[in-house]
Amino acid sequence: MEATNATTMKEVVQQKWGKRPLIIAGPCSAETEEQVLQTATELQKTGKVDIMRAGIWKPRTRPGSFEGIGTKGLPWLQQAKKITGMPVAVEVATAKQVEDALHFDVDVAWIGARTTVNPFSVQEIADALRGVDIPVLIKNPINPDLELWLGAVERIAKAGIKQIGLIHRGFSSYGNTEYRNAPMWHLAIEMKRRYPELMIINDPSHICGRRDILQDVAQKAIDLDFDGLIIESHIDPDNAWSDAKQQITPARLGEMLDNITWRKEDS
Ligand code: PEP
Ligand code: MN
Repeated sequence: MEATNATTMKEVVQQKWGKRPLIIAGPCSAETEEQVLQTATELQKTGKVDIMRAGIWKPRTRPGSFEGIGTKGLPWLQQAKKITGMPVAVEVATAKQVEDALHFDVDVAWIGARTTVNPFSVQEIADALRGVDIPVLIKNPINPDLELWLGAVERIAKAGIKQIGLIHRGFSSYGNTEYRNAPMWHLAIEMKRRYPELMIINDPSHICGRRDILQDVAQKAIDLDFDGLIIESHIDPDNAWSDAKQQITPARLGEMLDNITWRKEDS
């Protein structure tokens, strides 16, 4: 949908936000202007994506990996939004990142799993967002600690943010397992029970860490009554600068979403 003067981007986000299922998709990382714009155009062509995601600052586990294109990538997202009318979401981890994201009209902010574990960081983000009131999605912490997840929600809510959503992205464990991050579905279900008024969406990309089981995990989330999905999508997944193994092309994403059995009330 094209944002016109009559429909401001804020209204677009509000309409999209309440929608079920909410579909957020886009690359793990913004890499080049061309990649961002082409991804945006192809995602829009599927007709199934509500909000585009792209990591600008990447919290990599080890130094030396690509740590994100940085603020330079924010005008690319602005341009993607102009071309497609899709609101954009980025991960923020510091007050400066919040400030930069807001300066470039980012519509939705999300807090990453490595940030949710740190109350100082979450508080810093909450303070930077105070009075701004853009929608904020809070990923579960990397470790299965429900209290940390709850604490992050409370800090953001206390800053006056009205539209808060949860992202279930699984929990890390040591060694090779079937999943990159164990889903531990019961923890997400417990969050749903404690905060029935908050939207909760599932991130099959970071749970799976690979493409072949993505659809099964997405289906399970829908069967468990999650409100939507956030899925990583890249125009050339194998050559992505981060999380290459789990990304899928926009066309494949479209097919996958077509093959999911949605709840009757949402279709
Ligand atoms: C991401 O969404 O690309 C990301 C870094 O995710 P997480 O915080 O879940 O690891
Ligand atoms: Mn990623």
